[in-house]
Amino acid sequence: MPERKITLIDATIDQLYSRLKSCDICPRNCRLNRLKGKIGYCGGGKETRVFSAFLHKGEEPPISGQKGSGTVFFSGCSLKCVYCQNYKFSCSISGETVSETQLSGIFLKLQKKGAHNINLVTPTHFLPQILMALKIALKNGLNVPIVYNTSGYEKVEIIKRLKGIVDVYLSDLKYTDKAVSRAYSNAPEYPDFAQESIKEIYGQAKALMAENLLKKGLIIRHLVLPNNIEGSKKILAWIADNLPKAMVSVMFQYQPYYRADKYPQINRPLTKAEYQQIRDFTESLRLKGFLQGFSPAECLAGINFTPNLKEYL
Ligand code: SF4
Repeated sequence: MPERKITLIDATIDQLYSRLKSCDICPRNCRLNRLKGKIGYCGGGKETRVFSAFLHKGEEPPISGQKGSGTVFFSGCSLKCVYCQNYKFSCSISGETVSETQLSGIFLKLQKKGAHNINLVTPTHFLPQILMALKIALKNGLNVPIVYNTSGYEKVEIIKRLKGIVDVYLSDLKYTDKAVSRAYSNAPEYPDFAQESIKEIYGQAKALMAENLLKKGLIIRHLVLPNNIEGSKKILAWIADNLPKAMVSVMFQYQPYYRADKYPQINRPLTKAEYQQIRDFTESLRLKGFLQGFSPAECLAGINFTPNLKEYL
């Protein structure tokens, strides 16, 4: 298995790296030469930056398990939603610069601490560097599943390259409405990219559970926004129609972080009535997966994470 992943990484890594010269790794298509130090919309340049790494016990139960998910939060993001709960590091490039060898060491230390998987959070803009680090780690004994934890703002041809390398996808599906996507994520075309990439992921691997852990497959995450109940219903109905066997994680932890106070429609938490409507609707569709409780603990949000890389470097 590690040998096969290494072979697949070798088959794609050079071409992927060379795309950083005129970066088109994600749908923003900045076309900047990141290898010469230019910084794209995502905040990513040549060097990989990581904000924190730890055993995360707040992911979905088959991801966190008993010991935790070996989570690596990358700095920067190609989407930068106005309400982002991780804005401290997704909307800035705070964090540590790490070499590919150092990043491979982080993966291996997380595995040594008992991580059930390596959970790459917002990895897209550093994908070439991450694949190189994974190759080094695989050669040095990394053998837990690789989780690709994405906003869903992905090119399908990039997702195709990850087949056989990534084991589990946690993919957001934030919007199906282009006007909402434009307003909150400056990405009117997000729905098309996200839906197409999620369909590709759904076809890549059937869900495989062992010892109550997800070893292969997809969980589609949807964060319910205030005053957007019809939008959430459309998304859930789309999943039921198109990907009926997919696991879904419906999240109610929204809080008006970052710049949400500039947007009156989303400048508040969800109401109990909104929560109940979406809960009832999801249950009526008989979707498989996870429904968060009303008003879950705020400690789940990235706003509360602190940099801790020193212990991994
Ligand atoms: S990965 Fe970053 S630099 Fe590259 S196209 Fe996307 S936003 Fe632009």
